[in-house]
Amino acid sequence: MDRKYELLSKYFGYKQFRAGQEELIDAILSGRDSFGIMPTGGGKSMCYQLPALMMKGITIVISPLISLMKDQVLSLKNAGISAAYINSSLTIEQLRKVYGYMGEGRYKIVYVAPERLFTEGFTATVKRISVAMVAVDEAHCISQWGQDFRPTYLKIPQFIASLPVRPVVTAFTATATEEVQNDIERLLGLRSPFRTVTGFDRPNLYFDVLRPGNKTEKLISLLSDRKGKTGIVYCSTRKDVEKVTEDLRDSGFLATRYHAGLSDEERKANQDDFIFDRKNIMVATNAFGMGIDKSNVSFVIHYNMPKSPEAYYQEAGRAGRDGTFAECILMFSAKDVSTARFLIENSSENDELTEDERQAVIEGDNRRLDRMVTYSNTSSCLRAYMLRYFGQNTEDNCCNCGNCKNEMRTVDITEDAQKILSCVKRVKDFLGYTPGETLLINVLRESREQRILDLKLDAIKSYGIMKEKSKNDVKEVFDRLLFDGYLKKNEFEGIIFTEKSKAVLFENEKVYMTVRKTREKTSTGKTGKSSIAVGDPGLYDILRAVRMRIAGKEKVPAYIVFSNAALQDMAEKAPVTMEEFMDISGVGKVKAELYGDIFTEEIRKYLSKK
Ligand code: ADP
Repeated sequence: MDRKYELLSKYFGYKQFRAGQEELIDAILSGRDSFGIMPTGGGKSMCYQLPALMMKGITIVISPLISLMKDQVLSLKNAGISAAYINSSLTIEQLRKVYGYMGEGRYKIVYVAPERLFTEGFTATVKRISVAMVAVDEAHCISQWGQDFRPTYLKIPQFIASLPVRPVVTAFTATATEEVQNDIERLLGLRSPFRTVTGFDRPNLYFDVLRPGNKTEKLISLLSDRKGKTGIVYCSTRKDVEKVTEDLRDSGFLATRYHAGLSDEERKANQDDFIFDRKNIMVATNAFGMGIDKSNVSFVIHYNMPKSPEAYYQEAGRAGRDGTFAECILMFSAKDVSTARFLIENSSENDELTEDERQAVIEGDNRRLDRMVTYSNTSSCLRAYMLRYFGQNTEDNCCNCGNCKNEMRTVDITEDAQKILSCVKRVKDFLGYTPGETLLINVLRESREQRILDLKLDAIKSYGIMKEKSKNDVKEVFDRLLFDGYLKKNEFEGIIFTEKSKAVLFENEKVYMTVRKTREKTSTGKTGKSSIAVGDPGLYDILRAVRMRIAGKEKVPAYIVFSNAALQDMAEKAPVTMEEFMDISGVGKVKAELYGDIFTEEIRKYLSKK
């Protein structure tokens, strides 16, 4: 048997390569620089881990985040591969030990944070050993056109040049437009690399965009429909994380929180609660998750719209990494757009850049934000929109997103639009200044709010002309008018009239809106072509309990023992001999030896009872 396949099965328990993996591995083994662009969960790690086992010398993986390294190293060790990581979380003593072992050639793979590349201990150690490959993970961090630009990444070529012999250099990323891909290749100094783009599609993910009037209520109802499942709720700000966590706890959910404002200890404790399945809902800012390899996340809900399609696809993509059905739901409101703009303009991440670089980053961020707003408002296939954004052409109808699953219809909203537009005009004329959206909606809906009475707005003609409509309905049309450019916001969030709206008010131009026939119907995860097909649900639950027990004993997250996908395969095939057990996807030699007896015995017991 080809040695590659032998190792694939022995260490990782898989029989086949996924799209793109084998070509990349072959190129790397032939000594060629390589560049893999694959979606999250596509199996990028395998592309450098497997050749690392076959090459003479050590593989250094440069990776930006501590949590990712730890997780990867744990998984490798659990599969019987010697590996280590080097980052700021290690004590001097631990560092010394790692450098010592590295020098003795005990590791095949060492993960290192970019900041550590030029530290004394590290440079001294790598000069003594033979480095077979430098693999750059999350390679888009080197480009200022991409999101997550990290200036320390720019120093990687200097590190490579400092090595006595130039190793094979490889780069991997999940999110890179053509422009960013070219930047990566150039800045890393890849030498005529083998480049492969396997496509960004994640067929097991269901995408949806909702625009609820009350996000908290909607979130609670979504979570109630998904009781017991594991998921992440992303918010744009720390304040929202705090509030949403509290609301969820008050409603009886097992929720924990994560953002950069918490102490290191709390962040770590909360992350562990989530990873070890003690809490099934994580409410977090985007500080959480890069490198979280938790494979059993079955939904990612965005409480706010993130600032770019890259960020959204990456965050949403943390759902369903093991290939089972998972949902990505975005809750949109027009306010999210101004919050995102504020975050872009005031980002402290760019402090270390020059003014020109900073302006270029902001400009790029604003362009990406516009595209994200379009995604949130499109009535055509959501998956197709994302894939095209990343340069992948695709069919118009994926049959597995909110827009494809719900029939759309076009409605004439001219009358409501005229009411709203004339209200904007009248209130402005009456007050002499431009008010915000909330006040205008309240005037239209005949609110007795004190501010309205004080301003005597109950006397104007527009007062109460939409009183028969719900707040949500008025807001939806209002947002549509903003999105389509009939209204604009000034720098103080005041609503202003545009040229475009004159035609509606004075020339009777029609305004249309596409809406779903059945409102806000989301997938429940119970139906649909890719929903979980667990062979024997009773057995699956037992296997999960066994996994939990082992994980507890070994103090590792459950998914490090086996992924959900592996458990599903087990529940389907019900292996009772070691040979049958080895046939399960995700069961390698080491894991079979470690866990084979426990699982097969439980399965035998279950079958005999049945
Ligand atoms: P990425 O880094 O691209 O986001 P990972 O490398 O973490 O993805 O892989 C995602 C999941 O896919 C992991 O659970 C991994 O074990 C699994 N995987 C990788 N390669 C294969 C394969 N050839 N067959 C089946 N599963 C695989």
